[in-house]
Amino acid sequence: MTLLGDSAHAMVPFQAQGAAQAIRDAAVLGHALASATWPKVPGTLDRYASRRLSTATCRRG
Ligand SMILES: Cc1cc2nc3c(=O)[nH]c(=O)nc-3n(C[C@H](O)[C@H](O)[C@H](O)COP(=O)(O)OP(=O)(O)OC[C@H]3O[C@@H](n4cnc5c(N)ncnc54)[C@H](O)[C@@H]3O)c2cc1C
Repeated sequence: MTLLGDSAHAMVPFQAQGAAQAIRDAAVLGHALASATWPKVPGTLDRYASRRLSTATCRRG
């Protein structure tokens, strides 16, 4: 199981980035899973989460 979009990193509306980040999550996840065979799916999901975590977190200031 994995998460994407607001379920993974909800953003306040005035940041105006939530939909864009959700689409980017989907693109990265789709690309990663397209080439993953079944035994590699858990590791692929871990790498997807690590890759997106650095860019999709909510920051202030
Ligand atoms: C007022 C406002 C303005 C915004 N402006 C912008 C903007 O300018 N630019 C921008 O990039 N982002 C903006 N956002 C953020 C953006 O709307 C969200 O980040 C984006 O929609 C998240 O997409 P999502 O697919 O993760 O979740 P959602 O779009 O919330 O989709 C989740 C879906 O799951 C459904 N669902 C929920 N529970 C269940 C269930 N139990 N079973 C089945 N279905 C279920 C819901 O009905 C919904 O259709 C704004 C948000 C708000 C509130």
